[in-house]
Amino acid sequence: MTLPFLPFALPEIGEAEIAEVVDTLRSGWITTGPKARRFEADFGAFLGDPELQAIAVNSATAGLHLALEGLGIGPGDEVITTTHTFTATAEVVSYLGADVRLIDIDPATLCLDLEQLEAAIGPRSKAIIPVHYGGLAVDMLAVLRLARAHGLAVVEDAAHALPSTHGGRLVGTFDSDATVFSFYANKTMTTGEGGMLVTRDARLAERARVMRLHGISRDAFDRFTAKVPSWAYEIVAPGFKYNLTDIAAALGLHQLQRVRAFQQRRAEIAARYDAGFAGLPIVLPPQPAAGDLHAWHLYAIRLADDAGIARDRFIEALFERGIGCSVHYIPLHLHPYWRERYGLRPEQFPQSQRAYERLVSLPIYTRMSDADVERVVDAVRAVLRG
Ligand SMILES: *Cc1c(COP(=O)(O)O)cnc(C)c1O
Repeated sequence: MTLPFLPFALPEIGEAEIAEVVDTLRSGWITTGPKARRFEADFGAFLGDPELQAIAVNSATAGLHLALEGLGIGPGDEVITTTHTFTATAEVVSYLGADVRLIDIDPATLCLDLEQLEAAIGPRSKAIIPVHYGGLAVDMLAVLRLARAHGLAVVEDAAHALPSTHGGRLVGTFDSDATVFSFYANKTMTTGEGGMLVTRDARLAERARVMRLHGISRDAFDRFTAKVPSWAYEIVAPGFKYNLTDIAAALGLHQLQRVRAFQQRRAEIAARYDAGFAGLPIVLPPQPAAGDLHAWHLYAIRLADDAGIARDRFIEALFERGIGCSVHYIPLHLHPYWRERYGLRPEQFPQSQRAYERLVSLPIYTRMSDADVERVVDAVRAVLRG
């Protein structure tokens, strides 16, 4: 008996999401409108801090771009982030004509290394983008302390980190300038494509709202007319097309209601993996501090040096057993664009390089049954024994 292929990731879309999308389609309003607004309000309520503003966008990449644009990042500026991330974290800096300064990771957490961060701060540094790798929250209090001491802005790449906590506080509620979540298809909740920019900076929020839709301002028009007829608007900047549709927001409304239950199931799968892999020559993913939530977007193991099998061959062997895996990430310093632009060499990032060569992300998603999880455990055990 051969089992069907177990993909690396699958979204969990329920009947409530489907009904809400259908309702949107029948409503006559399918682009940004009442559901996107409600999704923003619900997201703000989820984070539970009335000072926060939530701005729905069509991707986390868009949200990161808007945040940095609103902070005035531009040519001559430098933004510090980790090499061990997806290119979206860094590409937005390039959009603005600024420079990316990549730093190495702490091998314990696979998140940016705080000593490297401090050492990388220079006269052109303007902002830091911490990435909560896999859903394990970065020590934000330490990052913010450092940022304040040097007058730097902080924009959190929280694409993996809903709902993650550090010191009991949800990612998104720290005193960063902005935090950006992703609702891409494989993230911890999804709108197909989508993202949320969260900030307590009213000026940044206003700028992002204007820039996400072509630089259109109704308020500016209002100042001159004291009255805004529905056709009237002013363009105050060359903005972008980053608004979230109501069709996508319809999914988000219901996904958000389930995001805590999703986290619990992911944490359960992670715990089953931890137990199932005991004694194997692998480094298990780091655990959150006691009482903290790990979003478990990723369950990334590292093969030990005595595993007796190369990483690529390990992934192939799991594929042959019908199990999809991935690698997070091919670090930015290995990609031609980043490597050539900044003349990067692997020796500059020994921890990320070492991790990359051994990393394997295993399937972890709510639609996996306990039997699916056992199947992965058995396959990993068999491959490492064989
Ligand atoms: C998914 C992801 C992004 C981009 O999210 P989109 O919503 O697809 O734009 C950014 N950073 C990290 C670390 C991601 O994993």
